[in-house]
Order: sequence, then structure tokens, then C-alpha cells
Amino acid sequence: MPLHLYNSLSRQKELFEPLYSPHVGMYVCGPTVSGESHLGHARPYVFFDVVFRWLRHLGYQVRYVRNITDAGHFEEEDRPAEDKVAAKAKLERLEPMELVQKYTNLFHDAMGQLNNLPPSIEPTATGHIIEQIGMIEEILRKGWAYEVNGSVYFDVVRYARQFDYGRLSGRKLDELIAGSRELEGQEEKRHPADFALWKKAPPGHLMRWPSPWGEGFPGWHIECSAMATKYLGAPFDIHGGGMDLQFPHHESEMAQTRIATGHIPARYWMHNNMITVNGRKMGKSYNNTITLRELFTGTHPLLEQAYSPMTVRFFILQAHYRSTLDFNNDALRAAEKGLQRLMEALRLLQRLELPQGGTEQASETDRKVGQLLDSCVQHMNDDFNTASTLAALFDIASYIFAWHHRQADVSEIRPVTLQELQRRFPFYITEILGLKPSEELHADRLERILHILIDLRNEARRRRDFASADRIRQQLLEVGIALKDEHDGTRWEWT
Ligand code: ZN
Repeated sequence: MPLHLYNSLSRQKELFEPLYSPHVGMYVCGPTVSGESHLGHARPYVFFDVVFRWLRHLGYQVRYVRNITDAGHFEEEDRPAEDKVAAKAKLERLEPMELVQKYTNLFHDAMGQLNNLPPSIEPTATGHIIEQIGMIEEILRKGWAYEVNGSVYFDVVRYARQFDYGRLSGRKLDELIAGSRELEGQEEKRHPADFALWKKAPPGHLMRWPSPWGEGFPGWHIECSAMATKYLGAPFDIHGGGMDLQFPHHESEMAQTRIATGHIPARYWMHNNMITVNGRKMGKSYNNTITLRELFTGTHPLLEQAYSPMTVRFFILQAHYRSTLDFNNDALRAAEKGLQRLMEALRLLQRLELPQGGTEQASETDRKVGQLLDSCVQHMNDDFNTASTLAALFDIASYIFAWHHRQADVSEIRPVTLQELQRRFPFYITEILGLKPSEELHADRLERILHILIDLRNEARRRRDFASADRIRQQLLEVGIALKDEHDGTRWEWT
């Protein structure tokens, strides 16, 4: 089955057909770096990392753009809009760019711990002020925005008369007016649903840039329109982000890009569902915003222990990205155990050998194992179903444990099936799902590599090739490993 993905725009699964195959453009809204990365950041970036890995595995050349929101105007739950970066910089007594760099570095650390591949391009909003101003000028020139007192607003009412504003989020203009929370600048707007493209900087506002409308700063939505268009063109293939970004962020992005370029930004819109903590929405009012650092070290009061980045990654991928996911201690502990079991199967599989003179005939088990391996491809091609992929990998793991504990006879599978298993099972776990084997597995592999070298040396000695034997011994000594020949074989120890 070729890749199908759920498109939030059409609200159905669609066959994935890139515009310029094998090239694929993917834009994922990045973090606001006015504070530490939290649980809410882990899910979209882990999931879209798997999307990136799977598309590359299918042979596409993916340009994955994930921005850093380090400027602009943000809306927060039940609060008037404010510049989070400037507010936090004042609080921490840092230069705004110093603060932004600090949290960008922490974000990168967390992404590295979660084993997310770096995106192809990671543009910052502050680095693209010129592009944003250019796009706003274009929208103004075409008559879909208006300037009031040094600020520029997008004319949502006019847009909604001609285009289906609310198509992505499924909201109607009337609801948008009722639900409008943006208090600041309300009196300047012609309509409460209009949104800011550019805001005049009030006195004392730290982050400000010159523009044709005076000193100010860009609105939040325009940065993604400007950077996605610059690096991926319009339209491009996939636009991703959390479901909370559908409105107003993505809806506004769609309107701006359509007016500026004549195209809606992306053909496929993918949104991961939200996370809850102990059954509650994450938010300041519940004091349940857990940072990734707190999660990895177990230092938040809601946590009973630390959870490793790989446990968190596994936990996220065990659920389908379009389902909600609840973080709680019981579920995380279960994920920790599940991951250990999978990694143990990986370790045992690599040691598994078939007895001499095994069967060349395909048995029932042989067919079943082959089907399970193939089902991983089908699950991933069915809207990136990592949950079903993991379930299939666990079914395979059960076979591996049964063979290891001699509850089943490993000789019922053919050598070719074992080879496929030893190649593909680790590949799906480590390369596609991005689950890093634990340190013990690495140690185990190194031990086995060392034994290969010891065998090679002993063979050289039997051939009376003492030069090769000595070279192996000497070079191992140089990296701190001493070989000791004893009557029952060769041992090694650290020097
Ligand atoms: Zn965005």
C-alpha cells in the first residue's frame, strides 16, 4: 500500500502525492523560545521526526523546515496579548537575544536527548523580519490589509466573503467574533476577527524593528507564512503542528499566504492531538506544565520518578498521533517496561543462531514472522500508525523470547527469514521509530566485536602469522585493552 495520510484540510485520508517527487517540502511550526521546552513540545517534534524518517526511508528527498519563534506577538490563554520574549527577558535580566539563545540551546539539547534528527533548515523569526515586511507590503498592496496608527491588520471580513475562512479549523466567522480574546489593539481593528500582521512597538518595548509603518514587530502568524514561502515555495507538500495551532495560527497563515502568493501554503495539513497530564489539559492554572528537563530528572512534584528520554519517546509513539495522550506515572512506568522488553528482544535477536541443517521449507511461523515484518510497512503507510507498528514489533518480540527460552524451536524459520528479521526488526526500532538502544546493548555489541578480534588473532597464531597476531594485541593495548592468554582461551581486561 502506498503512503496515505490524514489531511486536516479535507478531513480524510488521502494518497500522498508530492508536487515535485522525489522532493518533499515539509514545514512544522517550531517552539516559542521564551521558556523551557515542556511536554507539549515533545509530542509534535517526536511525531514529525518519525514522519521525516519514514518519508526519507520511502526514498523522498525531504526538506524539513522547523522554525524558531523568537519574536512577535503572542496570544495566551485568557490573557491580553504580550511579547513573551521581552517580558521574560526583563524578568531574567537578560538581553532578549541572550534569553532566546539560552532557550534555543535548551530546546536543542532536549531534541537531541529525544533522538530527533535536526531539521534541514531552522529559520528564526528575528532573522526574517525583511521577508515578513515584504509579505505584509504585498498583502497591503493587494488591498487585503489596512494600516492604523503604525499597526497593520489583515482584513478577515473581506477574506471570508471570498474564501472559506475557517475551513481548516471548522470554525465560522460568527464564532470567531464571539471567541475573540485578543484585547490589545481591539479598538484599532475594523472587526474583532481581524488579526495583526504588524504591531506598533509601544514605548519601552524591547524587541522592535524599523518598517514602512514605523518601529514595531511582526505578528505571530506572518513569520511562518514568510519563512515557509521563502524556503519551500507555495504551495508545498506538508504543513504540520499541534492541533492547538489550527486556529488562529494555521487558519491565518493560510489566508496570508493565499493573498500574498495566490496559493494556499500546503496541500496536506497534519496535526497531532493534544496531551493531558493526569487527565487535565496542561496549563499554568493547574500547575501541571512539566518541562522536559523535569521529566528526564524526575524533579516535578507530579512525578514519582525520572523517565528517560527514550521512555518518553516510546510513550509518545505508542499512541496514534491523532489520539489524545495522557501523561501519568502509571502509563509512563508501563512504557518504561515496554521499552525494556523491546530492547531486550533486540539484544537476544542479534545473538540468535540457527542450528546447522535447518529447514528451507517455509513453515507457519516463518510465514507469520514475514507477515508481521511486512505489516510494519503497511501500518506506517497508513497515516504513520506508530501504535500498530509497535504492536507488530511486540508480536515479533514474543517469538524471539520463545525461541530464546526454548519454548519454541527456532529451526522452524528459514535462514533467509532470520536474516530479514535481524536486518529489519532493529531497523524499524532504531532508524524509523528512532528508539536508541540502551548503553548495555552497545556494551554487549562491543564485547562481541572484541571476541571477533580475539578469534582473528588466535587464527593468525595458528597460521604462525605472528606479525598479524602481535599487531592486533598491540593495537588493542593502545586503546586500553590487554589480552591474557590462558590455558582455556584468551581473556581481556581494561589496562
Ligand atoms: Zn507556525
